[in-house]
Formats: sequence, structure tokens, C-alpha cells
Amino acid sequence: MSVEINITDAVKKFGNDTIINGLDLNIRPSEFFTLLGPSGCGKTTLLRMIIGFNSIEGGEFKIDDQVINNVPVNRRNIGMVFQNYAIFPNMSVKENVGYGLKLRKIAKDEMDARINKILETVKIDHLKDRMPAKLSGGQQQRVALARALVIEPAVLLMDEPLSNLDAKLRVEMRNVIKQIQHDVGITTVYVTHDQEEALAVSDRIAVMNHGVIQQVGTPREIYRHPANTFVATFIGLSNLIPARATTVAGDTTVTMDDYTVQLPLRTTEPGDVLVSVRPEEFVINSTDGTGLLATVESSVFLGTSTHYFLKTSTGQDIEVITDDTDTDEFEAGTKVRLAIKTDRVNVFDAEGNTNLIAR
Ligand code: ATP
Repeated sequence: MSVEINITDAVKKFGNDTIINGLDLNIRPSEFFTLLGPSGCGKTTLLRMIIGFNSIEGGEFKIDDQVINNVPVNRRNIGMVFQNYAIFPNMSVKENVGYGLKLRKIAKDEMDARINKILETVKIDHLKDRMPAKLSGGQQQRVALARALVIEPAVLLMDEPLSNLDAKLRVEMRNVIKQIQHDVGITTVYVTHDQEEALAVSDRIAVMNHGVIQQVGTPREIYRHPANTFVATFIGLSNLIPARATTVAGDTTVTMDDYTVQLPLRTTEPGDVLVSVRPEEFVINSTDGTGLLATVESSVFLGTSTHYFLKTSTGQDIEVITDDTDTDEFEAGTKVRLAIKTDRVNVFDAEGNTNLIAR
């Protein structure tokens, strides 16, 4: 039976500093839920409040119907995988994984059976007598995961578990973690500052900044429909183009320099806005076509796509990625018109706080 986690009005203070002030979060049963945000935004702090390593200065933390605020760490039934794995160097794989069971005074036969089963799940049963010094980074990560899961916790927490691995192994291990989490079906809260990793593993993501949740959604929702310019620029790349919104005969139009397009907005009030265009949401036209006037400064051919760096006539830097590798490249110095894919772009208010697009 998987559990849900409900956090209501959470407050965290360190001395006089308030790090988290009134945070709400609901994490669903069996969900792979990721806290994503820049360094120092409070991800680890929140995770440590859930497991009980940090005190809670306000609000309520619940696992299903049980309030856990005052439940001691060892009674919360939560497993955790740390960034540095925290594996005991003087114990074999089997002893490391069995450590939590031994503390719980589980009978030897049952202990052996549970260790063997979890080592098979994480696919290191052939290494059970090995010492940690003779394991690769990925194997150590599997030991840490097995050790957290063997106690059959209700919740699994992971704090940047892949950051000590090289790039290739990181991609391999994130797939392993996702698969095991899916097979075990355990409610999981995962912390990372790596947006690609978050998109790859998560059912849903909470994007955090300065202790405040900016948006909760599936990877696709967050990428396609960011709540504000922080999310739009933190997850992937977005060009933010200042523009003017007006309503003509009931249709909202947005004008960037001398380029006007019709876009469905949630407001009919005329005003300054920011059009948020991802590099793949532009179409490069010749100057005979429509679009924002810009000059190609440089380009990088990447095989399946070409990455262009341009400057508009108002001096703004723009990045464009085209997968149209059949056409000739636009050389540096070429003047072009950048049209936008109106069914894909987002529009924010001038402060970047609210997404105004209506779709
Ligand atoms: P990172 O990705 O770098 O680990 P994070 O998002 O996990 O960042 P936290 O470690 O949660 O960030 O830190 C959030 C804020 O709380 C930071 O400003 C940090 O300096 C502060 N902080 C964390 N732990 C303590 C502590 N024990 N005492 C005082 N301040 C702390």
C-alpha cells in the first residue's frame, strides 16, 4: 500500500532566517516526485524536514492520515539515499544492506531472504560479499538504494543521488532508479538541481526558488506551460522578448518591434508583456518573409540540428535551434526574419510573474 504525503503551511527557520514560509505540497501514492531548483533554494531543507533531521517551525507534515511532526526519525518509516551514499567502508555489501534489519532485530533467516531479494532487485546479488572499496560508483549507488529499500519503508527520499557519478553513468543510473522505483511502487521524493535529470525521471516536479514553490506539474506541463519566467528560463532555455499586447476587434495581438502576431491571451487589457520563445519555437525566414528582424552572429552545426545565435535590431540576443538540416545554413552577417510558432509560445506579464496565454 503506497502512501501520500501532505505538507501544509510548512515553516523552516534557522535562527532569525526564515528559509521556508508557508509551503504547501501534496505528493501522491507511488509517485516519483522531484524537488527541483537552484542551489540554496531549500530543497534539502524540506527533505530533511520530511525525514526528521530538521525541526519544523510551523505547519503540518502528514503521511496518509498520520501527522509526523513529532514522530522521531526511526519511527517515520522513511528510507533515504544520500549524495555521498554513506556506505560503511568496513562492511561487505551484504552487511551494509542488512544493517537496518539488524537494528530492527529481524530474525536471521528472514534477514537473509530480504537482503537477497533486494540485491536481486537492484541487480548486484553477485556482489554481496564484496567490500565497498572494490565497487564502482554505480554499484555503490545500488548498495545505497538497496539499503534504503530493504527496510520496506513507506517513503523513499533521495538527495542528489547521482551527483558523484560521471555524465554517462548518471544517465544510466537515473534509468535504473526510475525502473526500480516503478517496480517497487514506493512514494518517492527526489531532490536535484539538474533540470534534465528531473524531466527524465519524474512523474511530477515542484520547481522551487527562495523556499517558494513556483509550479507543480508533469515534466511536459512545466516545459510547455511554465507558470512564470523563472520556470521558463530555469527549465530549458527561453528567449524573453519585450512586446506590446493590444486587442483589435476582439482578437488579442502581440507586437514585437515591427512583427505582429495573433495570440490567445487571458486578458484583453492592452499593456507591456514578455513573449517567451524556446529556441525550437522559431522559424527562420528570409527578409522577404514575416518575423522579428535579426542578424545571424554565429551558428553551430550539431548533426540533427543547427544552433543559431542572433541579435535583433533592438540589440537583444536570441538563440534559435532548427532541425531543418536540409536547407542551407544562414551565414554570419545574414539578415533574417524570425517568425514564432504561435501554437507553442508563452506570454507573460511585464514582471514575468503570470503566464497570460490561454490554451
Ligand atoms: P543545494 O542544491 O546547494 O544543496 P538546496 O536547495 O538543497 O541547495 P538547502 O541546503 O536546503 O538548499 O539550503 C537552503 C538555505 O538554508 C540556504 O540559504 C542555506 O544556507 C540555509 N541552511 C541550510 N542548512 C542550514 C543550517 N543548518 N543552518 C543555517 N542555515 C542553513
